[in-house]
Amino acid sequence: MTIAVSYPDKYSVEEAFQLLKIPWVWYEEGCHYDVVIAHKADVPGYDGPLIDLTDNDFLKKNSDLLNAGQQHLHEPVCDLLLDKIREELKKYVILVEIPPVPWGYPYMVALTHDVDVTSVRDCRLVTVGYAAFQCILHGSVYAGLRLGLSRFGIGSDSWALFDRWKTFEDQLGVRSTFFFVPKKDDPGVRAHPYRAVGYDLNMDVLRDLTQGGWEAGVHGIDNWTDSQRGKQEMAPISPCGKIPGNRTHWLLFDQNSWKALDEAGYLYDTTFGYNDDAGFRAGTLQVYRPRTAQKLLELPLHIQDLGLFGKFCWATTGNEWVKTPCLHLDAPAALTYCDRIFGFARKYGGAVTLLWHYENLTPPRDWSGTYAELVNRAQADGAWVTTAGSVVGWFEVRRKTGIGYEMNNKLITIRICNPDSGHQPPMRVRVHIDPAMVSSVNAEHKPGNGYLDIECTWPEITVALK
Ligand SMILES: [Zn+2]
Repeated sequence: MTIAVSYPDKYSVEEAFQLLKIPWVWYEEGCHYDVVIAHKADVPGYDGPLIDLTDNDFLKKNSDLLNAGQQHLHEPVCDLLLDKIREELKKYVILVEIPPVPWGYPYMVALTHDVDVTSVRDCRLVTVGYAAFQCILHGSVYAGLRLGLSRFGIGSDSWALFDRWKTFEDQLGVRSTFFFVPKKDDPGVRAHPYRAVGYDLNMDVLRDLTQGGWEAGVHGIDNWTDSQRGKQEMAPISPCGKIPGNRTHWLLFDQNSWKALDEAGYLYDTTFGYNDDAGFRAGTLQVYRPRTAQKLLELPLHIQDLGLFGKFCWATTGNEWVKTPCLHLDAPAALTYCDRIFGFARKYGGAVTLLWHYENLTPPRDWSGTYAELVNRAQADGAWVTTAGSVVGWFEVRRKTGIGYEMNNKLITIRICNPDSGHQPPMRVRVHIDPAMVSSVNAEHKPGNGYLDIECTWPEITVALK
């Protein structure tokens, strides 16, 4: 059972097959294969089964979208494209894969919060005044007055919310990732003055969160522009456990950002998403390695509160900053919008990444109800709802795992080379075969529609056919 590929761009092939996680080899002339993937012109001596890329180069489409992205994309186009290839390959081989679906869960959800403020007292008077006015305008008079007074040190601080987040997420039974800005009062080198935040890192807060199972990451100011700045911004957060991941403040990003973040040593980035929409900027629900990175993985961002509910966000056009409209939905419409995104995860696996800003747990916005509803719905689906780092870690193990298989006399032998087999939750091997044809399997397994899923905890899995 051999799938061979001939293609000039090594990255495109390797990344597509990391997302597919199907055994494959590079094409060599004169060898026998069950099917070859190539432009016909590149394999002149080959006359066996061929998936010809001449008119439909899915490898290029996939890698272009992962790396360049697309605005207002509402389908995971890469995942749909790879699924078509999976269907095509099934015509030639018994397909064996490790799908992006942990054993025991239909998909994953990464919960994240950008911390742009930690106290009313650190905020500009105009910001707090506007927030208080919005509270009163929408009927939360008490919250508005409390906000205004706490700006002047009277009463408790309305935006000191870490304990509330902890209680809220404890009740939901989840943990999440908080991204912290590493430097105060600095809008960054290529940014609108409004971008500066007014708080200093409080290491006691970070330690308390990480000891309780939450994750702390960097909410980058300039780390997306060069690796030296990236290292400087990572340093204050690093003592709190593992090497941090990044989400850049305001989602600022250019084509050098992945390389800069990678060279600075960040574990992952989760900036690639929309400020003014919800959907699939990278075209996928999977974690992937961008072309310019050696180690850094991208966890694409799919849904953020401001994109759903906000009226506008700031965006660059050349050197200008302009107000760009957001979706500005009400809560029921936002849930419907998100459910469509979750629907793709239910079908194709992978991870939905949610961003709820730290301050939006309370009035004037208080979008906590929608957040809780999304978490509850994912839990009702049986999804693994966890931190960004845990999702990236799961994909990292899958990426390092090798898979091979052979078939002899009605026995499929699958070999898994997994350097980190102790991690939770385990992966699954999917054998695309009618479950009614299977007589025995030497591991936990369950039938699906046209395939058999097997828990991936053994180095050698055998599937005996009738
Ligand atoms: Zn931010």
